Amino acid sequence: MGDKPILSISDMSIVFSSPDEADIEAVRQVDLTLTPGKTLALVGESGCGKSVTARAVLRLLDKNADIQRGSIIFAPGDAEATDIVQLRQDSLPLRAIRGNQISMIFQEPMSSLSPVHTIGDQIDEMMVIHEGLKPKQARERTVALLDQVGIPGARERADAYPFQLSGGLRQRAMIAMALACTPKVLIADEPTTALDVTTQAQILDLLRQLQADFGMAMLFITHDLGVVAEIADEVAVMYLGDVVEQGSVFDVFAAPKHPYTQALMSSIPKMARKADRVRLSPIKGTVPAPRDRPQGCAFTSRCPYAFEPCATIRPERTAIGDNHHARCHLLTRQPAEAAA
Ligand code: SF4
Repeated sequence: MGDKPILSISDMSIVFSSPDEADIEAVRQVDLTLTPGKTLALVGESGCGKSVTARAVLRLLDKNADIQRGSIIFAPGDAEATDIVQLRQDSLPLRAIRGNQISMIFQEPMSSLSPVHTIGDQIDEMMVIHEGLKPKQARERTVALLDQVGIPGARERADAYPFQLSGGLRQRAMIAMALACTPKVLIADEPTTALDVTTQAQILDLLRQLQADFGMAMLFITHDLGVVAEIADEVAVMYLGDVVEQGSVFDVFAAPKHPYTQALMSSIPKMARKADRVRLSPIKGTVPAPRDRPQGCAFTSRCPYAFEPCATIRPERTAIGDNHHARCHLLTRQPAEAAA
């Protein structure tokens, strides 16, 4: 395990087109880096572009979405680096990466697992296709994996259909499937959102343990800052398609610099004695539709500090410290200067 990135997304923009309306740039010039053995959390409200960014890595975007600029360099170390953006959708190199070297866990396993095949058959198939195992060998590995992700009675449960398992067990089965080919990168798209808090804590523990066992890099998508604090080493905060702040979890949580990150932090409930309780301060307004995004800073319409250049000039990505940066005009100019 080293600090050399295994996956580098650089300057990536994703555009959605429709026959009747103007194109929408849903993700704007995003830069993200994943390192073996580390977890990067991508956070933000619904519709900010987190899942679209993650799906782009596996080229699982809808037909009307296109990566219009940038690169996604996958550098596994034991093979030549590949720019995933340049691979053809049905090409062998892309099929070899998908589900094999880079895997994904989805929020709702029922929509990703086939309802008409047993859990075991679905996991066996991954290993037969990608690793050329014989069905019997694959089944032994499947049982071991189901056991490793904490499914009791793994051999019998391998013959169960997804509907026969509880939500927590289904999510564990989905994780086992994602790990079937020992991926180097695991993308987890809100894998605990649909689960109760106890099961959520168990799944987070499990992912941490599996990361330690396999040394994989993890991209963890969530809207929950509590989960970020639990699982991530680094965090990237997205708002309306922009990464507005990024850094180590420690730096960003200790001193958030972007007004949106600050607002997200102050909207987290805190435990306190009755006398010390303070009202939560929700973020005013709602996220505008992508087609109504302000020309300048995406957060202008909700930002309590917005000043003259914010509505018209997009803030640059500004370094705040080692490996900590944000996009906000307050980092480079004073409101009074701008007004002068
Ligand atoms: Fe607020 Fe302006 Fe900073 Fe955007 S650039 S977050 S609107 S102060």
